[in-house]
Amino acid sequence: MEKHPAEEFRNLRAKYFSIANKHGFDKAFYILETDREKNHFNPQVYTGLLSELIFYNEGCDVMDLTPTLDCGDHCDFRGSYNNNSARFDVTSSLTYKDLDTYSDYQKKGQKYYIALIDHDSKKIDRIIDINFPFCKECGGHLINIVLIGDTKYTNNGTPTQSQQIIEMCSQDISHKNYIKEYEYFIPSMNNEIKNSKGFLQDEISKKHGINNALFFGKLINDKIHACGHEKLINSGSIDDGDWSTELFWMSDMVDSILPNQFDTSLWY
Ligand SMILES: [Zn+2]
Ligand SMILES: [Zn+2]
Repeated sequence: MEKHPAEEFRNLRAKYFSIANKHGFDKAFYILETDREKNHFNPQVYTGLLSELIFYNEGCDVMDLTPTLDCGDHCDFRGSYNNNSARFDVTSSLTYKDLDTYSDYQKKGQKYYIALIDHDSKKIDRIIDINFPFCKECGGHLINIVLIGDTKYTNNGTPTQSQQIIEMCSQDISHKNYIKEYEYFIPSMNNEIKNSKGFLQDEISKKHGINNALFFGKLINDKIHACGHEKLINSGSIDDGDWSTELFWMSDMVDSILPNQFDTSLWY
């Protein structure tokens, strides 16, 4: 009788994990490669098994990993991370990952992390913390962002600039919490683009976004997951266009739940 694909996968997982435990990871990787050719594993099965084996190998001691039965709760391993008990979902691509699939378990107090595996280097690429607080009004995800204002001038010509840190709801921008405001003079995104000829705008946004997220994250002693600024839309000139808010950088997974662009009502 044909086995259900999910059951087949679970049996294979158990096979390689037990080889790894008994005979070491080199042996487990070797048998996986031989089986792959002999049994013509389909690419998804092979990719899944390889990812989990790479994660288990690199993390078993540092994260005290135990493989789970993998029965639909998006948890491939239990272990510990940042001194807390943690559940890990292992993958080699974030494309089909959906933050909402973890919410029910997270609301029961479980901490979830996505372990992104790089198959070229056969290493853990990064571990993504997806434990955002939930919005009390609608259950959406609350995400810390920094909004970076452009330089403005008072009536007597004094330049001013402000940065606002806001906790933003992924489902409704009116569900927001003000965290803090700063008045640093920092280059605006528009200036960065002007001053960096030859670089792709995506690269500049990413670099500028990560730098600001780290800088303001340190100040509030928390993580910042997106950076936004004011952007003129519907026009080329300041006189007849509309201002919008554009998030020019978002971290992993947050980019799948926050809108790229919205109105300016988020600013205080
Ligand atoms: Zn799984
Ligand atoms: Zn909300």
